[in-house]
Amino acid sequence: MSTDAEGVVAAAARDAALEAEASALDVADPLRSFRGEFVGAETSLVYFDGNSLGRPPRATGERLERFVTEEWGGRLIRGWDESWMQLPFAIGDTIGRVAMGAAPGQTAVGDSTTVLLYKLVRAAFDAQRAADPARVEIVVDRDNFPTDRYLVEGIAAERGGRVRWIDVDLRRGVDATALEAAVGPETAVVVLSHVAYRSGYLTDAASLTRIAHDAGALILWDLCHSAGSVPVEADAWGFDLAVGCTYKYLNGGPGSPAFAYVAARHQANLAQPIQGWMGAADVFLMGPEYRPADGMRRFLSGTPPILGMLAMQDTLAMIEEAGIGAIRAKSIALTEFAVRVADELLAPLGVEVASPRDPALRGGHVTLSHPAMREVTAALWEQDVIPDYRDPGGLRIGLSPLSTSFGETLAGLRAVEGAMPR
Ligand SMILES: *Cc1c(COP(=O)(O)O)cnc(C)c1O
Repeated sequence: MSTDAEGVVAAAARDAALEAEASALDVADPLRSFRGEFVGAETSLVYFDGNSLGRPPRATGERLERFVTEEWGGRLIRGWDESWMQLPFAIGDTIGRVAMGAAPGQTAVGDSTTVLLYKLVRAAFDAQRAADPARVEIVVDRDNFPTDRYLVEGIAAERGGRVRWIDVDLRRGVDATALEAAVGPETAVVVLSHVAYRSGYLTDAASLTRIAHDAGALILWDLCHSAGSVPVEADAWGFDLAVGCTYKYLNGGPGSPAFAYVAARHQANLAQPIQGWMGAADVFLMGPEYRPADGMRRFLSGTPPILGMLAMQDTLAMIEEAGIGAIRAKSIALTEFAVRVADELLAPLGVEVASPRDPALRGGHVTLSHPAMREVTAALWEQDVIPDYRDPGGLRIGLSPLSTSFGETLAGLRAVEGAMPR
């Protein structure tokens, strides 16, 4: 046989072995039946972006329709008294229970992630500085998500504080050594992501929380890339504050409102800056001045987006049924498989894995790096293979444990192989 022909035979054998492995993993997957619960999972489209916008659950269409006809259409304004006033806290408690290790009364669904981050970081900064005027710094890393960095800079400027930046390796994230060097007697608040949006690096949130506390600081965890994918133990790990997205692994739909967690011990001391009637002690008293409600209600501002918080309930029910531990186990299996397939199919084409190789240090996505990835992403979208692109040269492979199969993962990575420049 010629060398070329041998190469073709070897590639076919390799592909067949990978196919067999993906089907064996799918057959053995205890969560495999959940995939069928998502719209579009029956098609050949490959979705690698559930960490940016999760697929809709099938049950959601019916839930929305029922809401329009029965609750909104039937109950009309009575709906507020009957359930909608409490919905931000009821769903918040569910998120706390199924995904966050948070006891009831500490989590609420409200505004966008950005707005909730603003409200909580500012409240924490003000409380810390009032207690100790030397505490004027907000610590954040240079590779945190843009909105987190931008609004920390805005709060520092508006309140006469300072930003203390942590430099990080873009293929990793903030570790204990980096945080220890950044915090001290001037730190008011630390703002970190639990899972880095670019590399997928998973921080040790319990240890980092301890480091912040040892320095007298409060810490706010951004859980956007962990909620619904990586277990969090907010109470046990001593979190002060947290905020997270619901349209990523919680499948709440485009623009679904975020959740905020405020540890019970802090609630009475924190005053958030957007004082609106829905956060007031007696909403319908409509009194002459703002008096904040007790508990989580004080972190609301205006009328909560009820329609936007309907869909996430279907995924929360699935998470409760599957268990976040089993979801994490599948997430690790999916990312391990993706890394191994990437090593086999894509490394020979110059692609590098730009995420941690140790699953204990990795969240639910894997970033593959090559200078051509921007063009490769555009070509893949044309073929119904949908990852996303993040500079520099990063193709993000998001693997949503409830809706992604091993077969889908393999099909997508083979499409990446086919789209790479030769
Ligand atoms: C997705 C994401 C956000 C998004 O904020 P929005 O206000 O919902 O647009 C914020 N922070 C992180 C870390 C994210 O991954």
